Amino acid sequence: MNNEHSSKILSRRDLLTGLGAAAAGAAFVHQAVGQDRNPAAQVADRASGVKITGMRTHLVQNKVYVEIETSRGVTGWGEVSALVPSAAEALARRMFDLLDGENPTRIEYLWQKLFRAHRDMRGGPFMCHTIAGIDMALWDITGKLWGVPVHRLLGGPCRDKVKVYPTSKSRKAPPAGVYDHAVTPSEIERMINQIRLDRERVGPEGIVMFDAHCAIPPAALIQLAAAVKAYDVLFIEEVAVPGNIEVFKRLKAAIDIPLATGERDRTIWEFIPYLDQRCIDVLQPDVAHCGGITQMKKIAILAETYHVPLAPHCTTSPLGATASLSVGASIPFLLIHETAPGLLRWGEQFMNRPWTVDDTTAYATLPEGPGLGITIDRDKMASVAADPSYKWRWPGAKLPDGSVADY
Ligand SMILES: [Mg+2]
Repeated sequence: MNNEHSSKILSRRDLLTGLGAAAAGAAFVHQAVGQDRNPAAQVADRASGVKITGMRTHLVQNKVYVEIETSRGVTGWGEVSALVPSAAEALARRMFDLLDGENPTRIEYLWQKLFRAHRDMRGGPFMCHTIAGIDMALWDITGKLWGVPVHRLLGGPCRDKVKVYPTSKSRKAPPAGVYDHAVTPSEIERMINQIRLDRERVGPEGIVMFDAHCAIPPAALIQLAAAVKAYDVLFIEEVAVPGNIEVFKRLKAAIDIPLATGERDRTIWEFIPYLDQRCIDVLQPDVAHCGGITQMKKIAILAETYHVPLAPHCTTSPLGATASLSVGASIPFLLIHETAPGLLRWGEQFMNRPWTVDDTTAYATLPEGPGLGITIDRDKMASVAADPSYKWRWPGAKLPDGSVADY
């Protein structure tokens, strides 16, 4: 046996002996210090004894704000969006039955408890959007308990700032109307001109996107995409209505510009087919639609495994937008993040916004906590809610012949 080999054996033997001693030592410490002082038994922390004690809901025009109260006096806020608000409010209140007395920091457990409580109501916008609002409030509470922004709880920021649109350097052209199956040359020309104009406005360093909004028939979209290649479109959004994978596959094969979708899809189960069928280049979950922060982070992980970045859809007030930016900050593959300036201004009538946008660079700062970092002014919120000029109405669109259109 040479010396080198012998020393390896000794090392292993020493190591094994050492491990044995360590295990024996741990057992001794366990007995000597008692369960109450054993470091391994100290799983209780500042978040372990807290309980959910109440929920208030606030219907403010087309939004419902969920306020979850706890035994520690810490309150969390979430935003329920894009539902019939009166129905969403009633559902959120009924869901409190499942939250009462629970520890709000068990976010994954509570998400599962809400989603899987009633087997016949699993999924769908009403359950998922309402759970999303509650989920935001739970992350807000947990961040506040630990004194950190929510993106710190999600693994910490992957970037120092987040690229956003719209800004003077990042613009997304709309479809500007509804289209029947015989899209006219002048309609195609108008869309091409809009994209060309946006490229001229942002310059060669800027970003141009086009949102088809599920309004443009596939054949016309293929024609349009071929005509705008020179303007370097970052992606074409919502080329087809959600769920129709065969149309997405056909468009993906025919269009030489990246395709994006996801704002009307919910949970990992609705996002996986796009990835599985290789028919999407960019995913666009909306934190308020997809099932909250908890689901959005999982969708980002799924997308990462297919090397697909996120460009989160976001048409929420500062509260929902902060939840979304918190996820966006914490994921490795983020292309760009939407903001809705009109809705941000609307929400800023009664809440702060814990991040800013530099219009000249198109970057947003990371949200500042603790939690989601939002403070609501209840009086101002009540006065916006009481605005008599607002009335919720069913949206919808029709073609010139009177038939129903996607829009
Ligand atoms: Mg869109």
